[in-house]
Amino acid sequence: MKRFLLALLLLLPLAANGHVEHPVCVDAQKRMVRFAPVPWEMLAMRNTAVAMATTIGPKPFILYDFEEFDRMDELTRDFIFAHECAHHALNDLVNGPAYPMVISRKSMELSADCFAGTTLRRLGEWSFEEVEIALRKNFWEHDISHGSQDERIAKIKSCWDSADVAQ
Ligand SMILES: [Zn+2]
Repeated sequence: MKRFLLALLLLLPLAANGHVEHPVCVDAQKRMVRFAPVPWEMLAMRNTAVAMATTIGPKPFILYDFEEFDRMDELTRDFIFAHECAHHALNDLVNGPAYPMVISRKSMELSADCFAGTTLRRLGEWSFEEVEIALRKNFWEHDISHGSQDERIAKIKSCWDSADVAQ
C-alpha cells in the first residue's frame, strides 16, 4: 500500500489540475506536513472520508480528494485541513488509532475538532455562526467515529470560545 501511494504521489503533478489553497501545518516533531491531492477512487475510500492524515515513509502528509475540495466552500476546506493537521500536531498517528486502549477514536476526533475550531477562530475570517452553518451542512448527521453533529459543534464552540486569539 505504501509503495502504491508513493508511486501515486509521483504521478500527481500530472493528474492534478486544480490547486487548492491549504494552511501551513507542522507536526508534533515540528516537521512541515505536505499536502497532496489524490483521486480518491484510486484509494478506494470514496464515501468514507475526503481527507486523511498519514505518513509516507517517515514524512507526514495530508492526502485529500481534489475533486471534493474543488467543490467545497473555503470555510469547510479550512476546517477539514485544520482537523487533519491536528492529527499530526497532536501526534495521533503515534498515540491514537494504533493504541485504542490509551485513547478512544471518538475522543481523538473531538480533540482534532477542538484544534480546528481554535485554528479557525485565530484565522479571524468567519463568525462562529458561519462556521456552524457550513459544518452542519457538511458533517454527517451521525458518525460513529467522529461523534454526532451536535456533539462536534458543541466541542468546536467551546474551543472557539476559549481560544487565545492574542497569539
Ligand atoms: Zn479525524
